[in-house]
Amino acid sequence: MRASDLLKPRPEGLYCPPGDFFIDPVRPVARALITHGHSDHARSGHGSVLATRQTLDIMALRYGEDFAGARQAVDLGEMIDLNGVSVSFHPAGHVLGSAQIAVEHRGMRIVASGDYKRQKDATCKPFEPIPCDIFITEATFGLPVFRHPPDTEEIVRLLKSAAQFPERSHLIGAYALGKAQRVMRLLRDCGYDRPIYIHGALAKLSEYYQSQGIDLGQLDPATVDSGGKDDFAGAIVVGPPAAFADRWARRFPDPISCFASGWMRIRQRAKQGGVELPLIISDHADWDELTTTIKETGASEIWVTHGREEALVRWCELEGIAARPLHLVGYEDEGD
Ligand SMILES: [Zn+2]
Repeated sequence: MRASDLLKPRPEGLYCPPGDFFIDPVRPVARALITHGHSDHARSGHGSVLATRQTLDIMALRYGEDFAGARQAVDLGEMIDLNGVSVSFHPAGHVLGSAQIAVEHRGMRIVASGDYKRQKDATCKPFEPIPCDIFITEATFGLPVFRHPPDTEEIVRLLKSAAQFPERSHLIGAYALGKAQRVMRLLRDCGYDRPIYIHGALAKLSEYYQSQGIDLGQLDPATVDSGGKDDFAGAIVVGPPAAFADRWARRFPDPISCFASGWMRIRQRAKQGGVELPLIISDHADWDELTTTIKETGASEIWVTHGREEALVRWCELEGIAARPLHLVGYEDEGD
């Protein structure tokens, strides 16, 4: 069979005709397999959803218990048969619960990575390369300029700044699912043991991470109604990036604006966003991780999606690996 008979792009998302299911569809469909809980991949309104237990929990937290008609939890590594097509989920190292999805039929195996990274992350299971014929890779940071430094280096810079300006607060913009908890966990791993103040939008997910055994230490609310300005002198405050534009952010004493994102590699981007202390911490593979992973899967063909598709396709071609961009629409990751 041809690969495109097993998985093909459709306006709703990647579709498997023999299995009659979609992977991370951007519109409501009858049967969806979901790689992870970020809102561009996990949408509400599907007839049924197959995903890891943690991804299902995260979807319920974000959309309410009725986010889908039916749901089925799959264990990592477990084989499930869907109309004669074997599917299995494998760790992607992106956020808690995230998985790659392997689709196998008549001797052909395609692995859809979803979003992934290779950097160590104490808040989720590490990525496992799955041997396959075709590997579908993301390419958010698919340019050689993107090389993420070790995340602890970034946290050490943050802690140095906090020590240098004890009267000021440090406001860290971090996406609500994954990045925020990773930053908090990194702070703990670097020895920071004071309470971390969090925006209300992070509360439910952070509590869920803690319930899954990921120790984030003491988290206190940084709400507009609680406390005076001086309470936050020297504090580290974490909130979703969108919160930094509103009234909420103005209550902190002489804040230093920080943003944890792979895009902070681009100085111009940090400057335009008014970010004083950019932290290059990403939940996506950088250029070296992308190219290493492609080789490790041993895939003879690479499909590239959401991100800098052309550069990675070109790299594959130079390496003698067949590659093509998928041009899927609707993925603008909330967790970069
Ligand atoms: Zn994601």
